[in-house]
Amino acid sequence: QDSPVAYKRVMLKISGEALMGDQGYGLHPPTVQRIAREIKSVHDLGVEICMVIGGGNIFRGLSGSAQGMERTTADYMGMLATVMNALGMQAALEDLGVFTRVISAIPMDQVCEPYIRRRAVRHLEKGRVCIFAAGTGNPYFTTDTAATLRASEMACEAIFKGTKVDGVYDKDPVKHDDAVRYDKVTYDEVLAKHLNVMDASAIALARDNSLPIIVFSLDEPGGFRTILRGEGTSTRVGG
Ligand code: UDP
Repeated sequence: QDSPVAYKRVMLKISGEALMGDQGYGLHPPTVQRIAREIKSVHDLGVEICMVIGGGNIFRGLSGSAQGMERTTADYMGMLATVMNALGMQAALEDLGVFTRVISAIPMDQVCEPYIRRRAVRHLEKGRVCIFAAGTGNPYFTTDTAATLRASEMACEAIFKGTKVDGVYDKDPVKHDDAVRYDKVTYDEVLAKHLNVMDASAIALARDNSLPIIVFSLDEPGGFRTILRGEGTSTRVGG
């Protein structure tokens, strides 16, 4: 029998790259469907779910500007990429019978809803998964900051950052056999040691709002549900 879930409302942050499978670019539908099933299994526990998906599988502002493109334009392209990912995830979730809303920081009424905080809260209360797209709507930010901002606005209890590895390590565990995983780490330690969790503005925003960040592996089958129930391995970033 399932143990009770400690969370009522959470934010799930995944990178755009999580959706591309082994393709190296874009969306890989079977991978999107697999992640959608992970989300449904948590939704089935009665947890209210917010979601932010990055855009790095399609376009990143920094890479565009490194190749000579004007930075703000490149960033807007990155934000638009996140809308495509959000729509892909919406389709996969709705295929499984999970009701969703894609809510964009940049209004595009024919495609999805504009961001209106109180309306988004109402969707969550009705059990709809809210996928927040177009980042914060501002260039020079990342979707990690968008996830932290929306999680704060929606009063989420924690941000769950799904990655390829099961937590935060002192060095890259893919490259170093002797990398050590932290069970818990403070925001300030993450910033001081430049640990690879989220970018510094996102960490600072989470710290200032006492929002814990739980880093876990999205590659582990059933991983999201396991972590939500307080089991499995992860790293908790908090005060
Ligand atoms: N972006 C932005 N403002 C935001 C969020 C995102 O300008 O508030 C742009 C930025 O260019 C970024 C791109 O969108 O590179 C994709 O987001 P991100 O790099 O965070 O995606 P991820 O690495 O999580 O896939």
